[in-house]
Amino acid sequence: MNKYPKSLENLIEAFSYLPSVGRKTAERYALYTFMRMEDYQITDFSNALLSLKKDIHICPSCGNISEEDLCKVCQDNTRNHRLILVVESIKDLYTIEALNSYKGIYHVLGGAISFSKGITTDNLNIESLEEKVKNGLVDEIILATNATIEGETTSRYIRELLKGYDVKITRIAHGLPVGGDISYLDEMTILKAMEGRREY
Ligand SMILES: [Zn+2]
Repeated sequence: MNKYPKSLENLIEAFSYLPSVGRKTAERYALYTFMRMEDYQITDFSNALLSLKKDIHICPSCGNISEEDLCKVCQDNTRNHRLILVVESIKDLYTIEALNSYKGIYHVLGGAISFSKGITTDNLNIESLEEKVKNGLVDEIILATNATIEGETTSRYIRELLKGYDVKITRIAHGLPVGGDISYLDEMTILKAMEGRREY
């Protein structure tokens, strides 16, 4: 007997759609759902899933998620709309928003150029960024892609793409983490920290 009843198998398969969830974890989640969750929790869970695609869409201006036409950041007139922070993912945007100190707007690429994953510039939200720059709507672009090979490649691509335009392009500094001990850091972090050095 290696199969659960059909309804449970369906749920196991559904949980398996999630990244990093294999068969064993999916089984545990499905059994937990059946044995431990209250009826109202299961209803909340399924309603939340169903309303996700219905109520949320991608902001056409920046690539953030939104329940309205434009996202809350793009609608906010107190922010500097001529300063654009470029991030790889919506999660990165939320991480920076949580700091409550950045007052420009964002541009979400939806990933980074990756030869191994077959992600090219065609798969990323770059065209609309160039369009904004081309139309003279931007003073400064801050490249905040990850400090990985993919993130660096993507930032370099955008820098080259926008080189001919009248826009300031900066890259966030990567360096030693607070409390970081140099002897434990990887080569990339140390090199980046040296590159990002400032007058002291
Ligand atoms: Zn937006």
